[in-house]
Amino acid sequence: MPSDPILLTPGPLTTSARTKEAMLRDWGSRDEHFIELTARLRRRLSALAEAEAEHVCVPIAGSGTAAVEAMLGTMVASDDHALVLVNGAYGRRIADILGVAGRPCEILEGVEDQPLDVAAAAARLDANSRITDVVMVHCETTSGVLNPLNEIAEEVSRRGKRLLVDAMSSFGAIPIDARRIAFDGLAASANKCLESVPGVAFVLARRTRLEACAGKCHSLSLDLHGQWQGFEANGQWRFTPPTQVVAALDSALDQLTAEGGIGGRFARYWENCRALVSGMRGMGFETYLPDGIQAPIIVTFRMPRDAAFEFSAFYDALAAHGFLIYPGKLTDAPSFRIGCIGDIRAQDIENLLAAVKSALGELGVVLAAES
Ligand SMILES: *Cc1c(COP(=O)(O)O)cnc(C)c1O
Repeated sequence: MPSDPILLTPGPLTTSARTKEAMLRDWGSRDEHFIELTARLRRRLSALAEAEAEHVCVPIAGSGTAAVEAMLGTMVASDDHALVLVNGAYGRRIADILGVAGRPCEILEGVEDQPLDVAAAAARLDANSRITDVVMVHCETTSGVLNPLNEIAEEVSRRGKRLLVDAMSSFGAIPIDARRIAFDGLAASANKCLESVPGVAFVLARRTRLEACAGKCHSLSLDLHGQWQGFEANGQWRFTPPTQVVAALDSALDQLTAEGGIGGRFARYWENCRALVSGMRGMGFETYLPDGIQAPIIVTFRMPRDAAFEFSAFYDALAAHGFLIYPGKLTDAPSFRIGCIGDIRAQDIENLLAAVKSALGELGVVLAAES
């Protein structure tokens, strides 16, 4: 086996040796030690969003989508009406999930190279009084754009509506303060900015709202209320938990604290992002987003027009140098993406840039480098 590749993707990500080592133990899922571990994890995840007072943390086994699906299936009832704000693939996925679950919803479609439009969302809320819930993505990983969560939350709560957030690719790196942002549900996962391994995700749910959601979910294993009641009753997961994955996340949270918490991680990701963008621009690549709306999570680059640039050959060349990147997912422009998150430091970005340079040479691509 070759050594681990460096993952410059939106997840799963490169994890530290310490996180991987945390998985070298078997846990009895109904044993008191694992019950304690679960309780600690739930407390720590709530604390990261200052959400201890009014919210509860409900972890769920699965990818991030499982948490979004559990949140929507449990908290949007069949007689509710959701407004989904969309500016990328993850926003569209929210609408798909609501569609599959048969929950009434409508979409406000924005553009992929702009943050969500706060005024348009407010106008839609005013135009349709049936809307009960607004659902949005915090960092839309399709492009890497950061959406105006605070501003939208204000418009939503001023009108007495409820807000549900997919904060998958921002949680742990971009501050979210539940005391200032009025959300009823917020979903995130272990394997993005928390830098753990994939397999567990979670929802921070407003306690009073969740209490009212008994029996609303269309799914047994994704029923957030049911799982929350399970934790309240005996501290246990209802179904087999991903024990090693839970232990890895607990270790990853220790490492987040050691790095200075969300502030420290945010600073490192920005450093990665700046070095990546300036190095790539120096070689003639163009970013899809202007700097002002770019989150330090993942950067979308426009596919170069040089005919010799073929993405799969470029991907393979970088993979041979030990770096895995991600294809684009935009509907309006050919692109590829490079992540800034994970256990990645300045030296890794420097090495990547050298690998990109050599990949361009191997492919015979000549870009008009910036002077
Ligand atoms: C990664 C991600 C998800 C979840 O994806 P999974 O593949 O299910 O883990 C959801 N929303 C956003 C914004 C994401 O970046």
